[in-house]
Amino acid sequence: MSTRLGIIGGGAAGLMAAVQALRLNMDVTVLEGGSRAGKKLSATGNGRGNFTNLALSLDKYPGIDTAFLQAAFSCFDQYDAVAFFESIGVYARLRNGYVYPRSEQASALTAALLAEFGRLGGKLVTDCKVTALQRTRDGFSVTAAGQQSFVFEKLILAAGGKTASKTGSDGSGFALARSLGHEIVRPVPALAGLAFRSSTLANAAGVRTEAAVSLNVGGVETHREYGELQITEQGISGIPVMHLSRYAARALAEGKKVEAVIDLLPEWDDAEAWKIIKECDDYSGIVNARLMKALPRNRDGFLKMCKRYPVAVTGIRDPETAQVTCGGVSLKEADPLTMASKKVKDLYLAGEVLDVDGRCGGYNLQWAWTSGTLAAYGAAGKPCVHHEPDPALVRRLEQAEVADRRR
Ligand SMILES: Cc1cc2nc3c(=O)[nH]c(=O)nc-3n(C[C@H](O)[C@H](O)[C@H](O)COP(=O)(O)OP(=O)(O)OC[C@H]3O[C@@H](n4cnc5c(N)ncnc54)[C@H](O)[C@@H]3O)c2cc1C
Repeated sequence: MSTRLGIIGGGAAGLMAAVQALRLNMDVTVLEGGSRAGKKLSATGNGRGNFTNLALSLDKYPGIDTAFLQAAFSCFDQYDAVAFFESIGVYARLRNGYVYPRSEQASALTAALLAEFGRLGGKLVTDCKVTALQRTRDGFSVTAAGQQSFVFEKLILAAGGKTASKTGSDGSGFALARSLGHEIVRPVPALAGLAFRSSTLANAAGVRTEAAVSLNVGGVETHREYGELQITEQGISGIPVMHLSRYAARALAEGKKVEAVIDLLPEWDDAEAWKIIKECDDYSGIVNARLMKALPRNRDGFLKMCKRYPVAVTGIRDPETAQVTCGGVSLKEADPLTMASKKVKDLYLAGEVLDVDGRCGGYNLQWAWTSGTLAAYGAAGKPCVHHEPDPALVRRLEQAEVADRRR
């Protein structure tokens, strides 16, 4: 008789764990709180589904236990993810190392996972929001909304983090983990914009410009990021801001004063910028004309604000639009090779419910694939062994890269 495995959460990590566990001959039931599985997955990458990145490395997960990640990725990495998706009919398209389905539709990832899940005989129960878990003598007793109850021998908790709650990840996974004795690193939104209450920068709402953005916490610069800055009426956004947001959110949650200092001319140091500005009568060839509404007209003031535009950060701008949660079940309480809980026998954890968040670029979904796979192998009691990528797959990726460069 195959082991009865329950998976809480039919998101990216839960569906990956389910398919891998079915391939390992387990009897798998996914309990999904929403009306359908994979809602968030189908919305990723602006609907195009940036599902991994060939440049996967530990520094794409700043602040996360590197030994833990190294161990996990050494079993299942970006090539394994690409090979897995090929095995269910999703071929890769590359853009600068960012990997998308060839159809450039995130929904293709969900559809392919669900098709394989159904083909292998997995059971999916939707509208089944788990409200309580109990460890019993033989496994787990699971209670869900509507008086539903289930019994499993093993359990994978893959209920996501606390972001984009309309996709179902409302933080209830943390409450369930806590109820079983797990320590939760305080969850805060990450990969989000930053809000200001009032700033003259709001006069330049709508502008997108290359910039360096530094984060000052309690008056000390802690992090700096480069990229396209987006200015809105309520705050700042864009890739550099998103990458800073995990630190800003954490500092604000701790009651610290947070400031973003924007360098609108990051390619020039102060002396170079001054030399150029001194020779110009009109700055419209230097900065976007609409930015002028937020900048002083005199040369000294213009230079000063171009190089160091301070913005007092009051919070995360629209936390519901954050892409990921920073925080979750402490990695000290999980085994990096099997995702087994160190607190509760036969419990495994996968995806964002764990304290792992990555940068933009496919790294958060890669974590869902890696941790989902390892949890399935862990629950099946089998080691997940990394294989060198198939040369034919590497060739296809090289061809996709060439096609990308031609575009
Ligand atoms: C708009 C947006 C775009 C993104 N784009 C990208 C991208 O391009 N690339 C990338 O790498 N990452 C991206 N991400 C992040 C990525 O989607 C997540 O990191 C990933 O989906 C996490 O997978 P998960 O399975 O842990 O959680 P989720 O995908 O959130 O799945 C959790 C599931 O658990 C269910 N659930 C929750 N609580 C319960 C409960 N109590 N009982 C039963 N079920 C429950 C939820 O309904 C949900 O279906 C994006 C995120 C957002 C919001």
